[in-house]
Parts: sequence; structure tokens; C-alpha cells
Amino acid sequence: MLLNKILRVGARSGVRLQSSGAAAASVKTSGDHTVANGFSFELTDQQREFQQLARKFACEEIIPQAADYDKSGEYPMPIIKKAWELGLMNSHIAEDYGGMGLSIFDSCLITEELAYGCTGVQTAIEANSLGQMPVIIAGNDAQKKKYLGRMTEEPLMCAYCVTEPGAGSDVASVKTRAVRKGDEYVVNGQKMWITNGGKANWYFLLARTDPDPKCPTNKAFTGFIVDADTPGVQAGRKEMNMGQRCSDTRGITFEDVRIPKENVLLGEGAGFKIAMGAFDKTRPPVAAGATGLAQRALDEATAYALERKTFGKLIAEHQAISFLLAEMAMKVELARMAYQRAAWEVDRGRRNTYYASIAKAFAGDIANQVASDAVQIFGGNGFNSDYPVEKLMRDAKIYQIYEGTAQIQRLIISREHLAKAKK
Ligand SMILES: Cc1cc2nc3c(=O)[nH]c(=O)nc-3n(C[C@H](O)[C@H](O)[C@H](O)COP(=O)(O)OP(=O)(O)OC[C@H]3O[C@@H](n4cnc5c(N)ncnc54)[C@H](O)[C@@H]3O)c2cc1C
Repeated sequence: MLLNKILRVGARSGVRLQSSGAAAASVKTSGDHTVANGFSFELTDQQREFQQLARKFACEEIIPQAADYDKSGEYPMPIIKKAWELGLMNSHIAEDYGGMGLSIFDSCLITEELAYGCTGVQTAIEANSLGQMPVIIAGNDAQKKKYLGRMTEEPLMCAYCVTEPGAGSDVASVKTRAVRKGDEYVVNGQKMWITNGGKANWYFLLARTDPDPKCPTNKAFTGFIVDADTPGVQAGRKEMNMGQRCSDTRGITFEDVRIPKENVLLGEGAGFKIAMGAFDKTRPPVAAGATGLAQRALDEATAYALERKTFGKLIAEHQAISFLLAEMAMKVELARMAYQRAAWEVDRGRRNTYYASIAKAFAGDIANQVASDAVQIFGGNGFNSDYPVEKLMRDAKIYQIYEGTAQIQRLIISREHLAKAKK
């Protein structure tokens, strides 16, 4: 409510959120883009308000319930509803469609704070941004009004339906088929590992429309919006995962599902580009989530090190532990800078693929290292579920897998790097 109020007041007085904290010092506009003069790490007052609101929400609403949700695996809908009421989700949806139209940078600030509370809850929320992003970048006005608009009217979930049992990293081997029949497409296939799979109101779906194996990848696939209640759409069982256990991950079967041609995004053949293009805007928030987890692990480990005594002194006073904390702090700070740079680049309208992959790979890796180090600092207690850090270690692993594995990010970074070197 507070955030909505801030935005409404801002909109009324003609004040729009600056789209970048890193550029708050001096800003001018050029065409559609805000361009920074110089460099600043200052957040704007509004950005600080977002951050504080999300931090308070994480402390008061998420942290007290996170362990219970982790144990039960129950979907955290009551928390999600509250986050929705406060304007802490769906932040990318443009004001024209009832949203807040926040920049990627601003959304990342919120994401980091929510992830600090629990990355299971944050992933459920973030999967909405992933599902929405293809519509945001490629939807027409009618599609945006219908599918993004409804998410600002009530707390609904959506999902990004691309991975299949036989096609994860290798998206081009997606087998789900969509065949044009009159004004409809008929879809058959099987998707796997879909976050919000059983909770979504609609899906972004990637399906093959050109059966010719020689057809180039960037022409063979089409992106669709599919209402989850369409006959033939069947969500499978909730998967029991290592971490982020309250997030809902499922396989989805499509059996003779009829999709109206109005639900094609951009046009037949444009799907692969849309599905991959979304990642430039969703990988910075994923990296922000990993950073939030790492910050939480550092804070928990620091507090413990300042309480636990061995050999007559606080373990923080053993140099081995204080240096470990220093290493953890270095990693957290650099992961934050990496996601902020990636978000800042795309908010300026520039191609940020290189920075987005660096941020995602780096933050995913350090979240795992920092969570593991936190467990080490807790000693035997760290291995036990009565303490918070074992959950952090389990939750961290997925950051090296979803939205492009750690290896795939390195593939992208090296490709981008070498392309620049060859110019
Ligand atoms: C909890 C969870 C939530 C998810 N949510 C979603 C979602 O909402 N929507 C969605 O569409 N998908 C989702 N995914 C799927 C996720 O994006 C894929 O699991 C991921 O991209 C990896 O694909 P894969 O599992 O098929 O592994 P594979 O592609 O089979 O990879 C196996 C291993 O080989 C490595 N590898 C593969 N190819 C190469 C290569 N060329 N070079 C080097 N190494 C390589 C990988 O890095 C990995 O280590 C989710 C997955 C999980 C577990």
C-alpha cells in the first residue's frame, strides 16, 4: 500500500521514478533513455523507500515463516498476497496496464531483500516476472491488457514454460509441437521443471511450429500465451526439490490444446528470440536473489561468530574465521555490483547479455560458496535444521542451475568476450 501510495503521489505530481540508482547523481534524458552523467552509487530516496519496504516485509512477514514453509513445502500464497498488496511483485508491468513500470534496477533492489527473507518465496514471486517478460517485450496492446492487466487486478501467478524432459540447456531441441488449424494452433507436448506450474493462471509456452529439422532455430519456434484452464493442459505432481521447497515446480502436459491465433506473440517463428531475449531482463533479478541469499548467510554467520566462544574467545576473534567472513563479504559486495551493472545496462536500452550472464554466474556461484562457508562457521549446528544456514545452503544450489546453468553462462560470456576481441 505504501509503495502504491508513493507511486500514485509521484504520478500525480509528474514525478517518475528514476530508473537507476547508480545514476542518481546527475541525469538527463536522451530519446527514450535516461543517460547518466558521471557515476554514483547513491540510491534515490524512492529507491531507498522500496528497499526499506521490502526489507521490512522480509523481516516481518517472510523470515518468521520461512522454516515452516520449507518443512511443509506448502505454497506461500498468504505471503504472496501480502506482497502483491504492497506492490512488491509484478513490478515490471507498465503503468498503462495497471502496473508500476519499474526499471529492472529498481525491481532488483526489491528482489534482493525478498530473497534475504527466503528464496523459496522469492522464486515463486520472481517466476511471475519470468512468465510475464515475453509478453512485456513482445506482446501487443490487447495481449498486454488482457494478460498483464489481470495480474495487477488480483494476485495471480503465471509461469514460463520452456524446459522439457529432454531439453533444458539445449532449448533448440524443444519437441512440443504447435500445428496451425484454421484460426487456432493445436499443441501437444510435455514441459518439465516449471516454476509456479500448478499455480499459474496462464503460461508463456515455447513450441515448435516448423517441423523441418533444417529450419533455423530462430524461425522454427513460436511463443504463445496459454490460459491454464484450457482443456488439455494438465499440471503434474509438485516436485520435491533439494531447496526452495515452498516454490511450486511441476511438469505440464499439453494434449491437443487449442490456442487461438490471437495468443501468438509477435508472429509465427519469433518464439526462440522472445524466450531467450527475456533472460537479459530476468537474469539480473535472479542474480539479485542469489545476492540476497548470500547476504543473509553472511549476516547469520557474523552474528554467530560474535556469540560462539571456543578456546576462551569469540570465534570471530580467530583469524581463520574473521578472514573467512572477510572473503564472504568481498563476494557479496561484488555480486551486488555485478547485478546492478547488468540491470543498469538494460535499463539504458543497451544490450546487456554479457553483463547479465556475468552477474547470474557470479552471484549463483558465490551464493553457494558463502552459504557453505556460513555452515562451516556454525560448526555442527550449521548441519542442523534448527539453525537457518543449512536451508540457505540447500536453497543456493538452484542458482547455478535455473535460468541457464553456470556452464551455459560461461558459454555466453566467452562467446560475447571473443566476439568483442575479434572485432
Ligand atoms: C527448481 C527448478 C525450477 C525451474 N524453473 C523453470 C521454469 O520456470 N521454466 C523453465 O522453462 N525451466 C525451468 N527450470 C529448468 C532449468 O532452466 C533447467 O533445468 C536448466 O536450464 C538445465 O537444463 P537441464 O536440467 O535439462 O540440464 P542439461 O541441459 O541436461 O545439463 C546437464 C549438465 O550439463 C551441462 N551442460 C549442458 N550443455 C552444456 C554445454 N553445451 N557445455 C557445457 N556444459 C553443458 C549443464 O550445465 C549441466 O551441468 C527449472 C529447473 C529447476 C530445477
